This record gives sequence, C-alpha cells and structure tokens, in this order.
Amino acid sequence: MKIKNVKLYKAVYRPEDIPQTPYNEVAFVGRSNVGKSSLLNTLANNFKLARVSSQPGKTRSINFYLIDGKFFLVDLPGYGFAKVPLSEQKRWRDLIESYLKGRDRLKGIFLLVDSKVGPTEKDLQMKEWLDFYGIPYVVVATKVDKLKQKERRKLEERIREGFKNNSIKIIPFSSKTREGRDRLLKELSHFLES
Ligand code: GDP
Repeated sequence: MKIKNVKLYKAVYRPEDIPQTPYNEVAFVGRSNVGKSSLLNTLANNFKLARVSSQPGKTRSINFYLIDGKFFLVDLPGYGFAKVPLSEQKRWRDLIESYLKGRDRLKGIFLLVDSKVGPTEKDLQMKEWLDFYGIPYVVVATKVDKLKQKERRKLEERIREGFKNNSIKIIPFSSKTREGRDRLLKELSHFLES
C-alpha cells in the first residue's frame, strides 16, 4: 500500500462532534510521547500529517485523516500524561469511549507501546477496553532503535507478559530507521480488507 494524498477531514474535541464517516477506518492510540505523531508522519512520508510536539499531552482532539479519498486514519489523543488534571482525563475518557462504542467502520487499532518503557497500567486498560468492544488490534512497539541488543531480544516476550497475552501481534517500529513501516502498512491493508 502507498499513501499519496492525506487530508485532515475533521478534528474533534467533543463526543457530539464525532462524524459518521462514509469509509472504513483504522485508528492509532497510545500514551502521550509514545511516538505516535512521528509514526504517522513516517507512514505518510512526512506529509506533515500529525505535528510532532515536544510537549506531551498537547493533542487533545481526535483527528480524522482522509487517505487517498478511500479510507480514514484516525489519530486518537494520547493518554497517561501525569500532569493532566483529572477533569481533563475524564474528558479524554468520554471522548474515546464515545468513539469506540458502536463504531462499525472501525476495522482495527494500532496500540502503540514505547519499547523502552514496556506496557504500562494505562496501556493494559486500553487493551481491556478494546477487548470489551471487540475491536481487533495490533501492538506497535515504538522507538526500537533505542534498544540494546539484549533488550531487543526480550522485547516481544516482555510485551506479551505485560499484556498477559501470548498470541498478541507485535510490530517493532522506529521512525528513526523506518523499521517496521512496511509491516505496518501490510497490517493496515489487512484491517481495511477485513
Ligand atoms: P506523540 O506524543 O506520541 O505524538 O510522540 P512524538 O511523535 O511527538 O514523539 C515523542 C518524542 O519521541 C519526540 O522527542 C520524538 O523525537 C521521539 N521519537 C519518536 N519516535 C521515535 C523513534 O522511533 N526513535 C527515537 N529514538 N525517538 C523517537
């Protein structure tokens, strides 16, 4: 799959503004600072699809990107940033939950986990949510260029243990080296065809 044209279709801040879209979609979610914006830009060949920010927790909207007029990539706001006040965390929950429930055209989710940090409590909660709503997902282990060889060898085992799931699909990924980009695009096609 090649991504040629990317258009921001809508940025949504409130549950009531979530659009019913005419095409299938695949979403990306993870902790703030996990490397989601970098990953999206790597996938879209630096179309400036998502702004890479040095201020974690800045993006609070759900961004719907129309790809080549055929499907949507959905950038969900990051979670788990310690300095975010409780009211803001609740707003995040309401927004994400409104999005996830009854989203027929959502074909799959890429759940991003920082390979240096491993799955956190918040990542586990996210996974449980996805299981609850029956949404298929693949874990993307980001920033693998930062791992030492030994850490790298243990990566998948560590993630599977963290998620208490031995059959989880994991894609090691780096925006720096572009490792994993092709695999990710392949999984994206699978999701969209399902
Ligand atoms: P987001 O908050 O999830 O959108 O994360 P960003 O894409 O803004 O990245 C957060 C930080 O991690 C930035 O300083 C990026 O430069 C860095 N980063 C992102 N991806 C990678 C990667 O693949 N390798 C390395 N070494 N750093 C990365």
